[in-house]
Amino acid sequence: MNGKKTSSDHRDVQLHALLKDCFGYSAFRGEQLKIIRSILDGKDTLAIMPTGGGKSLCYQIPALASEGVALVISPLISLMQDQVASLKESGVESCFLNSSLTGAEKYQTKQAILSGRIKIVYVSPEGILSPGLNDLFEQVKVSLIAIDEAHCVSQWGHEFRKDYTRLHELRDRFPLAAVIALTATADQKTRADIAKQLKLKDPEVFISSFDRPNIQYLVLDRKDELEQLEEFIEEKHPGDTGIVYCLSRKKVERVAEALSKKGYPAIPYHAGLSQEERSRNQKRFSSDDRIIVVATIAFGMGIDRPDVRFVAHLDLPKSIESYSQETGRAGRDGKPSSAWMIYGLQDVVKLSQMIETTEADENYKKVARHKLDAMLGLCESGGCRRNYLLNYFGEASPERCDFCDTCQSPPVLWDATIDAQKILSTVFRTEQIYGAGYLIDVLRGSESARIKERRHDQLSVYGIGKEKTKEHWNHVLRQLLHSGFLQIRDWEYRNLALTAKAHDVMTGKTKLQFRKQESVLAESKKEKRVKTIDQNHGKPELFQTLKELRLKLAREQSVPPYVIFSDKSLHDMCSVLPRNLTEFLMVNGVGESKREKYGNLFLSAIKPFATPS
Ligand code: ADP
Ligand code: ZN
Repeated sequence: MNGKKTSSDHRDVQLHALLKDCFGYSAFRGEQLKIIRSILDGKDTLAIMPTGGGKSLCYQIPALASEGVALVISPLISLMQDQVASLKESGVESCFLNSSLTGAEKYQTKQAILSGRIKIVYVSPEGILSPGLNDLFEQVKVSLIAIDEAHCVSQWGHEFRKDYTRLHELRDRFPLAAVIALTATADQKTRADIAKQLKLKDPEVFISSFDRPNIQYLVLDRKDELEQLEEFIEEKHPGDTGIVYCLSRKKVERVAEALSKKGYPAIPYHAGLSQEERSRNQKRFSSDDRIIVVATIAFGMGIDRPDVRFVAHLDLPKSIESYSQETGRAGRDGKPSSAWMIYGLQDVVKLSQMIETTEADENYKKVARHKLDAMLGLCESGGCRRNYLLNYFGEASPERCDFCDTCQSPPVLWDATIDAQKILSTVFRTEQIYGAGYLIDVLRGSESARIKERRHDQLSVYGIGKEKTKEHWNHVLRQLLHSGFLQIRDWEYRNLALTAKAHDVMTGKTKLQFRKQESVLAESKKEKRVKTIDQNHGKPELFQTLKELRLKLAREQSVPPYVIFSDKSLHDMCSVLPRNLTEFLMVNGVGESKREKYGNLFLSAIKPFATPS
């Protein structure tokens, strides 16, 4: 018993040594160590971790600690390339096998694998199942099999891939290798399905917290989206890298162009671009020092740039799952980042319409409606956004985070009963067959010909909302729709009709308290920015110098800058101010390999800034 403890302690010491020597980190995060132990014990393992949680180390470290070669199944070529480039920087022998290699390159890679040098091989799902590779891996010892983005195996997941469904064959083919499946999809059903589809044997399941404490959540009402976006970037993230998500390709093009015109380094990304343009833009995203990608959700999997400082949503995502995954791409390096979103009545209408007009069965629609409602709940919620998100994933959390927009400036409630009555009566008097725009025109007494033709200027409700803005009425309408006093009756024309609940509001029996519409940004303007240069310990010039050195090295080797050192490492250099190679090793993210390669270069850059002692 005692002996066993000692040997597992000994193993932990080894694992920490690998973490520091190869990757330059001094502590495991969250569940990492437990996951690694489970794999090394030979158990099948399912690891659920939020995006940016640190999944890669969970299989990379066991791969290094075991005899033989580890197979990593990954769906995206660009991701494989970045991972291998990063590993090489850390001195880990690794490679990838996919369709981007030439015949000669493939041959060389296979030879390297056969020689036993290689510790980690990245392969696509269709590649690993092909006869050629099958033969290859029969000839070497496979230490473990990691299946990344494992939710792709499940029909319940939102990114189903057919190639993934055959991956269970690996379980039989390599009976001695532990299989580890990794995903950021927390949904219970998907989770169970992954274990089943991959035929995991009695898997150990590890679910990490989905909290991303460094992300600030901000949700605003839509006014002028481009103006709001620009204001947000200027206020909170001038000079930072970010992703702006839009629903349609057209909008992506329009927004990217508008931002470029204003001088931002913005590029579009959507499935309608040519393959060439897409890979060029993807490449710029991972290698440019500062870049803003305007994208549809086609831009997503395979992004592992750690210093994305903001994710902005110009359209509402269709579920909390999508929202979490997309916003999770911000701040993987753990530094302060923003998840910013604007939404309006149009989003609710558009997304509802998309659900209602699909060919899918009623069951699917029910789930989709439910997910959209939860998403709207997040927007309309007067409480803490983080608390809402974590509750959604079934995780207990403090009621307030003191960091999101609603915690920092709690919404003011106002008595909306009278205004709600005005809208509901207008819906009723115009016979429940018009959309929001028309109803508001009637309320505000518009001179439009349409209204006159229909004689709606004769109604008692005509012009009773004159004194308030269009925006105000839109806001009230949306809250009525979302809280179930109005419903959309006809999906083609988006007509609004009363619900049974509306009656009590009209008669004054139900009183309504709504959230006041406020530009959170206007408030936060007065507050401090999400500091991006705050952590360079008062040495912005040194930080800039180090960034330039990093960029130069990255260009020379054609790798993304963060592969050389993360921003966090550079900040740490500014604070540690190492004077020699031993001190250099104290910097976060510096392991043996990087110290050897870059130590002297960075030390010389730091020297003029270090105080003599
Ligand atoms: P995921 O695949 O879960 O989205 P990654 O594996 O890409 O996340 O890790 C996200 C970032 O966190 C990377 O930059 C990685 O180097 C860093 N990281 C992972 N584990 C640790 C750790 N124990 N200490 C410090 N940084 C870590
Ligand atoms: Zn909060």
